[in-house]
Amino acid sequence: MADLSVAMRTLGCKVNRVEAEKIAARLLGTGVAIVDEDEAAVVVVTTCTVTGEADHKARKAVRHALGLPQSPVVVVTGCLASVDPDGLAALGERVIVEPDKDLVPARVAAVLGTRICPAGVVPRIGEAFRTRAVVKVEDGCDAFCAYCIIPYARGVPRSVPVADVEAEVRSLVDAGVAEAVLTGINIGRYSDAGLDLSGLLERLATTGLSRMRISSIEPGDVDERFLQVAASIPAFCAHLHIPLQAGCDATLAAMGRTYDTAGFAAVVQRAREALPGLAITTDVMTGFPGETDEHFEQTLAFVEACGFSRLHVFRYSPRAGTPAAGMSHQVPAAVKADRARRLRELDGRLRARFAQASLGEEVEVLIERVNDDGSAEGTTREYLHVVITGADLAEGDVVMVWITGAEQGRMTAAW
Ligand code: SF4
Repeated sequence: MADLSVAMRTLGCKVNRVEAEKIAARLLGTGVAIVDEDEAAVVVVTTCTVTGEADHKARKAVRHALGLPQSPVVVVTGCLASVDPDGLAALGERVIVEPDKDLVPARVAAVLGTRICPAGVVPRIGEAFRTRAVVKVEDGCDAFCAYCIIPYARGVPRSVPVADVEAEVRSLVDAGVAEAVLTGINIGRYSDAGLDLSGLLERLATTGLSRMRISSIEPGDVDERFLQVAASIPAFCAHLHIPLQAGCDATLAAMGRTYDTAGFAAVVQRAREALPGLAITTDVMTGFPGETDEHFEQTLAFVEACGFSRLHVFRYSPRAGTPAAGMSHQVPAAVKADRARRLRELDGRLRARFAQASLGEEVEVLIERVNDDGSAEGTTREYLHVVITGADLAEGDVVMVWITGAEQGRMTAAW
């Protein structure tokens, strides 16, 4: 075990991953080695608290680190550290809880007896960024959807200055990165130096980036200006992740979402008209308090009608302190599990349908992995995973291929 050795254990969303990478980069800048957990003097656990299951995984990760034979110190950060610092601290004497991620490197440095890289000086960790880089542009949310703990855990929206985002993307382009995924908690709230999200996209279009994607956008933010700007940027990928959550007006209203199904359908239609070939993915939550069988059937039918290319299915779980946790008519766990299973079945059918519709199409693939058998795997602009055989490709290549097979959602392509 090296003296200055740190392991990173990161749970949850893309924003967490970017933030953990920044912590690791600042540590690396001071001579700290990033190692596997079983070799580390300090384990940094970046937690999530979006569901009860996320809490469970976070505590399990902390307990696992505490149980390692070398007895590391465990520094815990992330959303669960913000909402339940005492509960995490109670897991063991070697636990240090630091909700502020900017302060985590200093906490680690104090344990290791070293000095730390200032927050503004953040070297990139090269290897992980050869193909697609995730760039955080915003943090926080003030929408306060009835089920969601995130506004309490991360606070109100704050935007990364446009100059910083542009400088980061330019450095990625210089390093040969083909695609940047702009991410945040609610990036439709982006606002800096007079630029909104669309203005930011226009600015980044000048960087020479080959492909630009946004991780998620709320339905209300997919407005005419956004679509017009997205359509005008050749690098903008024909893929939007627009969280639906429920396809039933009563459930959407109870959730405190700001649209109904007709409004969402109109957004989908406008987006498809503006961005030809657009793939739309979404989040669907089931088991929100008061969701009846009838409501759920409405959601299933609406999700099918929207023609999403992929679903992320969640089961509602009460988050202490949110309005929904105190609502009556909580849905039994077995009912939630059954509804989630039916949604996942629908997801399988939707993926297969989208894959079938792509047969014979010519698509652009960013190569992310080359396998031992010589095949290559990558992602299309529409966020489809494709396996390519019969070509000598390298990670980071961007190639045009024809889709030749779509078996059970697995897509194959020929050069
Ligand atoms: S928009 Fe709603 S669901 Fe999304 S982070 Fe904000 S409060 Fe949570």
